[in-house]
Amino acid sequence: MSKADSPIKTDALVRVDDLRKVYRLGRVRLEVLKTVSFSVREGEFLGIYGHSGSGKSTLLHVLGLLDSPTDGTVKLAGADIASLPAAERNRMRCEDIGFVFQFYHLLPELSVLENAVLPAMVGSSTFGWFGRRRDVRQRAAVLLDELGLGDRMKHRPNELSGGERQRVAIARALVNGPKLLLADEPTGNLDSRTGEKIMNLLLRYNREHDQTILMVTHDRDLAGLVTRCLELEDGRLNA
Ligand code: ADP
Ligand code: MG
Repeated sequence: MSKADSPIKTDALVRVDDLRKVYRLGRVRLEVLKTVSFSVREGEFLGIYGHSGSGKSTLLHVLGLLDSPTDGTVKLAGADIASLPAAERNRMRCEDIGFVFQFYHLLPELSVLENAVLPAMVGSSTFGWFGRRRDVRQRAAVLLDELGLGDRMKHRPNELSGGERQRVAIARALVNGPKLLLADEPTGNLDSRTGEKIMNLLLRYNREHDQTILMVTHDRDLAGLVTRCLELEDGRLNA
């Protein structure tokens, strides 16, 4: 069956209904997400635009299973995340979701290749890892090469520019072949030319590999480049 005929293709990979997130700090109650409902289709590059403090990172952390909602439902690949056992949530966080952060979050003592390989090590037993090590390193090397870092594999993050560090972070996010790539202001720490290159890489992965991407940004220009863009304002999403 070709990809175009696949029944999965038209399904929502992410389905969010009436999501609410409230932070409580002592007696202060901060309702960051009020009623957020949207879906991300397979193969789509969805952008969510919002100003600083509008709740973009909060939303991505919930979708990335790094935080839990106060209310509402989140379905990933049809599964309601609230009803999943912890072990399955951990597996999904590690294998089904890739995360790119504004500030890269690379481990400084590891090489470029080791950083990119890391998510594939997490969740493997020692024995399992030894069996898969060669394949995974090969996959990470291919990704790094595609991202233009073929000659930087042995370097440490502090020997790289910001744009190069973000490309390592993208390789790390993609190494497990995630169903969903979440990108939190991926160009926010870069100058505009370097940011444009990173954005073009993400657009290319979406186009050439059908990689489903959800990116949040405060940059309206970036938001205009994606398949579809929604605006997060006052805890709600507007088309
Ligand atoms: P954005 O990514 O759009 O800049 P955030 O999701 O980081 O916005 O933050 C939205 C609001 O929630 C901000 O007012 C922020 O101070 C608050 N906030 C974020 N994380 C927490 C937390 N862990 N505890 C309390 N308040 C938080
Ligand atoms: Mg943020």
